[in-house]
Amino acid sequence: MPRIVLATHNPHKVEEFQAIVAEVRPDLDVVAYDGPEPVEDGVTFAANALIKARAAAAHTGLPALADDSGIAVDVLGGSPGVFSAYWAGHKKDSAANLELLLDQLSDVADPHRTAQFVSVIALVRSDGTEETIEGRWPGRLAVQPAGPGGFGYDPIFVPDGQPADAERTVGEWSAAEKNASSHRSRAFVALAPLLESL
Ligand code: IMP
Repeated sequence: MPRIVLATHNPHKVEEFQAIVAEVRPDLDVVAYDGPEPVEDGVTFAANALIKARAAAAHTGLPALADDSGIAVDVLGGSPGVFSAYWAGHKKDSAANLELLLDQLSDVADPHRTAQFVSVIALVRSDGTEETIEGRWPGRLAVQPAGPGGFGYDPIFVPDGQPADAERTVGEWSAAEKNASSHRSRAFVALAPLLESL
């Protein structure tokens, strides 16, 4: 069975990736990377995704995928962006990150609370060639968290395109609903042809 290594230690992302890869390439065995973690010192999603994918490819000799992702809030000029995981400090406390973001936006009215989840997926092939692909998922930030599902900023992200009288945060969506629309799945749709030719 052909294998591809997934350079993430986030179990939520491993699950999401496995579900998405299974749709496109059910024959592909996705293995999680357990080697040394590189320093993610890029200042763009693409730079950080490439740093992670290159490290996994070099360590395993397999083609490697990595994603770098975050939430970009328009009124904050695209922040937290690459700092999403540690917006409230290097403890990487998701609840504190989310609280700080809500606090910063407490005086911002609904029409100005637009944001996107962004995912850049990097593919590094065994021959060293590289690709990066971006997926964006537009929405708005809720005023307070809702829903037990997902991770990170999911409980405050309200994706666009929902019926106005039944809007829910991603925290209230099922995993299958999220996987069908998310920034990662959008990037993945664009990546699919490249996976087919691996
Ligand atoms: P990364 O693991 O370096 O890509 O950091 C991503 C950070 O962005 C996570 O720690 C979350 O805070 C946030 N994030 C990325 N994708 C999602 C998502 O699908 N839902 C909620 N938060 C996300």
